[in-house]
Amino acid sequence: MDFSDLALSSKILAAVAEKGYIKPSPIQEQAIPAVLAGKDVMAAAQTGTGKTAGFTLPILELLSRGNKAKANHIRALILTPTRELAAQVGESVATYGKELPLTSAIVFGGVKINPQMMKLRQGVDILIATPGRLMDLYQQNAVKFSQVEILVLDEADRMLDMGFIRDIKKIISALPVQRQNLLFSATFSPDIRELAKGLVKNPIEISVNPENSTAKTVKQTVIPCDKKQKAKLLCHLIKENDWQQVLVFTRTKHGANRLTRDLEAKSINAAAIHGNKSQGARTKALANFKSGAVKVLVATDIAARGLDIDQLPQVVNFDLPNVPEDYVHRIGRTGRAGADGFAVSLVSADEHKLLEDIEYVIQEPIERKITEGFAPVNELPPSRPIKPFKAKKPKKVKHTHNEHKDGQRSSNSATGHKPKSKNTRHQVSGQDKASNKKTGKPVARKVHPDKAKQQGKKDPYSASR
Ligand code: AMP
Repeated sequence: MDFSDLALSSKILAAVAEKGYIKPSPIQEQAIPAVLAGKDVMAAAQTGTGKTAGFTLPILELLSRGNKAKANHIRALILTPTRELAAQVGESVATYGKELPLTSAIVFGGVKINPQMMKLRQGVDILIATPGRLMDLYQQNAVKFSQVEILVLDEADRMLDMGFIRDIKKIISALPVQRQNLLFSATFSPDIRELAKGLVKNPIEISVNPENSTAKTVKQTVIPCDKKQKAKLLCHLIKENDWQQVLVFTRTKHGANRLTRDLEAKSINAAAIHGNKSQGARTKALANFKSGAVKVLVATDIAARGLDIDQLPQVVNFDLPNVPEDYVHRIGRTGRAGADGFAVSLVSADEHKLLEDIEYVIQEPIERKITEGFAPVNELPPSRPIKPFKAKKPKKVKHTHNEHKDGQRSSNSATGHKPKSKNTRHQVSGQDKASNKKTGKPVARKVHPDKAKQQGKKDPYSASR
């Protein structure tokens, strides 16, 4: 199939051709006609499959046929879990729609709200937003939903993981009943299906990858090593293999900072990207990484979500993630859209259980290779036979918290993992939607992010890892 078979206007086809896309990816082949036909869609697709164009191209096409957005109104709403993904999707909308008379805007927290309000004043055809900031704008009457024709939930699984379920439900209840709904998620956990029940009507279900399967073009390797040797081993691998662009994942913000310092000390240009960094620092780190000025980008999981770096060849798991599904997301950063990629995990003996969980979720053993000179003193136990994958029972979606300390995870409703800390109650209030169990009433007042800053609180919209 060619893009020209997809009933898209010549202006959109020209923008696609300019991007250098030759053929639609499998998700695009299925999603574009379904969206153009006005259907609701539920698509299981990892990042790297071309899902963004899968929904943006037909949305641009549909909106270019209708009336413009009125003042403060929007016509299509794309919700994303992180600022980075919002920026990324916004960029795609602008690129693919550059020849069309449509307007778009991106709104997320951690930056001033006023310019976003100004932008919305004229009305915007496509709004890309993170849920917390959108709720703020809505409550301040800066955005009106009565003209919304299309809703997209992008990376819905991650939005649930990050505790956005209440905001999402509030937003959905404020939208017009008559609308088209598109739900994109890397995995279809029972929680996502539960969310979908109240959202999509007779959806076309699309799955381009079996659940939780890793991108086939990614070559995965585990390097058993001692924990203390990891930084040295990473420097060795970068130099030995002459890696030019490496995305490295650490479990904690603190770990990301420390590793960045270790790399810099060995004259390897590195930058860290995580929730404690200002939006400006994150944007700069990413731009430097993309341009090649920075060789190694050290990221925590949430911060890395949505990063789209063309043809990223190398991903390294410096620590294994606590949640096996994050492994799938992490290595989805490489081998994108058919390009080859390499994912290397440095695994110490204490992480063997996490490795087992990952192998169970991806349903395949990962090849182990010891690097000469780095054989571990504490050996990694041999891998055990992998049990067949069983879907978890549906669980009630709990409110989760996305601001937590280094190394602590919020309750992960999609995976059923419990937080390590009992103190998952609210340290910050920008997204504080805690409720009294008996009354269901909110117990903490929402604080504007700028106010929270003035009060010396952490940026409530920043991802924590
Ligand atoms: P996504 O899954 O939407 O994050 O897209 C992953 C990457 O694939 C992005 O860098 C896109 O620019 C690229 N891409 C999207 N569609 C195509 C296509 N049809 N052919 C080649 N690359 C594509």
